[in-house]
Amino acid sequence: MTDTATPRTPVVDVLCVGAGFSGLYAAYKAREHGWTFAGFEKAPDVGGTWFWNTYPGARCDVESIYYSYSFDEELQKEWTWSERFAPQAEILSYINHVADRFDLRRHFQFDTKVTEANWLPDEHLWELTLDSGAKRRGRYLLAGSGGLSTPKDVDVPGLQNFSGLVVSTSRWNISLDDLAGKRVAVIGTGSSGVQCIPLIAKVAEHLTVFQRTPNYVFPARNAPMAPEVVDEIKSKYPDIRQECRYSPGGIPDRPVTDKAFDVSDEERQRRYEAAYERSGFLGVGAEFADLLFDLEANKTAADFFRGKIHEIVRDQKTATLLEPQFPLGAKRSCFGTDYYETFNRPNVSLVSLRDDPLTTMTAGSIVTEHSEHEVDAIVLAIGFDAFTGPLFGLNVTTPDSGRLQDAWSDGVRTYLGMMTAGFPNFFMIAGPQSPALASNVVMTIEQSVDWITDLIAIARAKGIEVVEATVEGQNDWVNITELTVNQTLYATTDSWYRGSNVAGKPSTFMGYVGGVGHYRRICEEIARRGYPGVALDGRSVAAGIGRIDEEVAEATPATASEEVHAEVATVVGG
Ligand code: NAP
Repeated sequence: MTDTATPRTPVVDVLCVGAGFSGLYAAYKAREHGWTFAGFEKAPDVGGTWFWNTYPGARCDVESIYYSYSFDEELQKEWTWSERFAPQAEILSYINHVADRFDLRRHFQFDTKVTEANWLPDEHLWELTLDSGAKRRGRYLLAGSGGLSTPKDVDVPGLQNFSGLVVSTSRWNISLDDLAGKRVAVIGTGSSGVQCIPLIAKVAEHLTVFQRTPNYVFPARNAPMAPEVVDEIKSKYPDIRQECRYSPGGIPDRPVTDKAFDVSDEERQRRYEAAYERSGFLGVGAEFADLLFDLEANKTAADFFRGKIHEIVRDQKTATLLEPQFPLGAKRSCFGTDYYETFNRPNVSLVSLRDDPLTTMTAGSIVTEHSEHEVDAIVLAIGFDAFTGPLFGLNVTTPDSGRLQDAWSDGVRTYLGMMTAGFPNFFMIAGPQSPALASNVVMTIEQSVDWITDLIAIARAKGIEVVEATVEGQNDWVNITELTVNQTLYATTDSWYRGSNVAGKPSTFMGYVGGVGHYRRICEEIARRGYPGVALDGRSVAAGIGRIDEEVAEATPATASEEVHAEVATVVGG
């Protein structure tokens, strides 16, 4: 294969957007294959989401021993996590360590935004336009731009009137001390709000939490890592990682087969108590196999949890306002430290925007239908334009299909969450309709990069320049993701999982929830069968991914449906 580089538009093998977990591993793999690689990152340094989300309390809620790369045995042996759930700064140090250790930084151009990506069909190349106006060309384009990297547009009425301090959790640029002694408002009670609220409450003169939808906030039960635990994990790391790769959620599994009503009320309560103590993604929401499938079963867990709020929060009116009303696990559970306890502080109050909607702001206050709250600072924790926000920001375009945002105007359509029909040689690392949203995402990223780079390597070895998902293959995958999610209570609840947090965004469930291991087996089987659903230089192997999905499911002792139940159950957590 000969590259047609000119001095003005150098051609590399792989172009990649983003220098977070995805982009760094893509650079590593590209180099391993001997390909040239050019990465572009809008931030001044590596880290992706962990570069930007520096708000107080930001930390991972998947245990760090799992939420880390598994591709290099020495790397995982030499790095020691200090806490069960490492704080943002430590995760960022780890990512920097990886970048230095494998000398990956030199493959990236920082402070550089990709503004357009155009497919040149005659040359079989992608051409990127950078914010400097410069162009870069390459054979394959990898989006490592992340699922939760584009903050949602601010849709809080009247913010332009407010003259005090405004800061967003996803672009935090102040110190916690800047909020000391101030009257602070936090708007939003998802994972980001839940993590920063207890710390802001400790320094603020007064904190008012503006809550629209109460969430399930489980105790994170963070703790320092005991040296003997670290040693034990390190001695077994390869086996643990292998288990994670074929697990439901990308973390070691705790399989359950019995259902909520298989046991007595007392036994169920006892098990929920134990699960609540355990917490994490294998906690209450994963205690019985049917909790995400049967509303009545789910209600037993949700009621148990609502009881916990009333035990912790002294003011019972506030406790009632904090009660989540949607099925447990139907959207992302949160994990916090002293979250509900914070509402017992005399300097903290809660405004339920469901009962008292926010109407506007003045220079110094937030005005709701029934009240006015004077504040000096507002913290926005309102979330992200998930998955499509970062992808559409790249303006990925082909002459035949137009822009990606036009091709997906009725909703996301992907092949395995990694490719999309009409966009040749374009790959999304852990993209929408992959297991990213309901998994230990680092594990999903590694699997995604491995599968994509294997496909590229096979194509190149055969002298094939263009690979593209077929419409048939894509339809198969979209059907599988929908069939899978529609068996679950995820289908009943609005959240960023289905794009409903962003006005006007078409509703598509953004993930595959059949489990990391099941997905991996499907992807492996697809590769083994010569990539059905992918056209290689225009020649395609018929799709039939649905059959592969069924065969993979049948290859286990459980029936397909029970398997999905078991896999999904442990992805939910709480
Ligand atoms: P989020 O889960 O989307 O939560 C946003 C919050 O802001 C919700 O409570 C939402 O209410 C509220 N909100 C949005 N727009 C609003 C408006 N105009 N007026 C009033 N309230 C508004 O966003 P997030 O907390 O940033 O978390 C997003 C995801 O990032 C998480 O689910 C998780 O996957 C990831 N994350 C992970 C961690 C971690 O690992 N520890 C930490 C942070 C984030 P509604 O629910 O009513 O829309």
